[in-house]
Amino acid sequence: MNFCSHCGQPVRFDIPEMDNRPRYLCDQCGTIHYQNPRLITGTLPVAPDGRILLCKRAIEPRLGYWTLPAGFMENGETTVEGALRETVEESCVDGRNPTLLSMISLPEFDQVHVFYRVDMPNYEFDTTPESSVVDLFEAGDIPWEEIAFRTVSATLRHFLEHIEADPVPVLNTAVFRHRR
Ligand SMILES: [Zn+2]
Repeated sequence: MNFCSHCGQPVRFDIPEMDNRPRYLCDQCGTIHYQNPRLITGTLPVAPDGRILLCKRAIEPRLGYWTLPAGFMENGETTVEGALRETVEESCVDGRNPTLLSMISLPEFDQVHVFYRVDMPNYEFDTTPESSVVDLFEAGDIPWEEIAFRTVSATLRHFLEHIEADPVPVLNTAVFRHRR
């Protein structure tokens, strides 16, 4: 990449502040041109008592809404590694025994969201720069009206609908901007 696809100015290849690997940066408009796979990996962490961990987003998009820990996969990772890394980064949870729970395409956003169910080995979790609140929820207390993303609510519903199943089936579906 030589020029910013947003504003047309030259880009430079450098490590952005708060990052640890080089990206194409536009000094004119401030855009960071990430070139990751457009794959979002995350987890649905289950505490020893069965409660589900959710994070309140401290960053845009969907600031202040609840989500499962998830984020963009990095080059060189497996989907499980990405999911577990994001879980630490967003909730300080050491997820164990990952099992695939959902794979949801968002063709209008050029993304795929992949979630694993993980066991929490204990009740250790914490807020992070990305999560202003981290908490455990009974199934009946999930704040459905305040969930950040439709892939997260779909994954939560799928998990709760199959909570007694062993193994849990994988939700493989797609969501679209204008269809609900
Ligand atoms: Zn630019």
